[in-house]
Amino acid sequence: MAEIKLEHIHKRYENAEDYAVTDFNLDVQDNEFIVFVGPSGCGKSTTLRMIAGLEEITEGDLYIDEDVVNDVAPKDRDIAMVFQNYALYPHMTVYDNMAFGLKLRKMPKSEIKERVQKAAEMLGLTDLLDRKPAALSGGQRQRVALGRAVVRSPKVFLMDEPLSNLDAKLRVHMRTEIAKLHEELETTMIYVTHDQTEAMTLADRIVIMEAGVIQQVGTPFEVYNSP
Ligand code: ADP
Ligand code: ADP
Repeated sequence: MAEIKLEHIHKRYENAEDYAVTDFNLDVQDNEFIVFVGPSGCGKSTTLRMIAGLEEITEGDLYIDEDVVNDVAPKDRDIAMVFQNYALYPHMTVYDNMAFGLKLRKMPKSEIKERVQKAAEMLGLTDLLDRKPAALSGGQRQRVALGRAVVRSPKVFLMDEPLSNLDAKLRVHMRTEIAKLHEELETTMIYVTHDQTEAMTLADRIVIMEAGVIQQVGTPFEVYNSP
């Protein structure tokens, strides 16, 4: 569980003239589900990547709980990120894809096995652990990508359009799965989407961005019923 605070966060990419993100301020509460929406190029991914530590912060302070983490390496942030394109290792089985991050962190094999099996059960992957990604459907691959984050039991989940490569029916199903995960794991979630229905059903609060700036922050009701 974790609180995240973004304080006057700015981002300008090297060689870019304009700021990709300007004066972004947000307090994310413990266990909150935040959804970022806004047109392509408005800075959603950039903000997520700064929180994950994958992108340097040009100006401003990022807090996780009480600490400023601007200079903390991604692997030391207790954050897991799920991407749109799954990013699975094609030569590894489902089991090894899910175990990989834990092996990197030198976790004992017995605990790795326990965690992978538990996550697999949660995500309906138990019968697929020996398969390679090429032998999985799109929905199954996305579950493995989620599983790889779940096994780490991070304080914070960041998801960058995790369902946008799925067909409409599967998207609705996986949306329910993600809501369930959030409930069971009691983690703080920050989720990027283009899909208004996803935002409305998942979010405690929605952050609407445009051209690198926050336009509005509020509950789904506040955001979609405001004049
Ligand atoms: P979104 O996720 O909302 O589509 P991004 O955060 O990807 O938006 O992009 C915000 C802005 O930053 C865009 O103008 C984009 O072109 C620019 N941008 C994104 N990544 C880079 C990069 N690696 N180098 C330079 N500019 C980038
Ligand atoms: P290594 O990295 O030493 O080659 P693996 O990563 O293949 O070993 O396996 C590590 C542990 O995970 C072993 O104890 C193995 O039995 C277990 N394991 C591997 N695949 C599965 C699976 N599909 N279901 C349950 N346990 C598995």
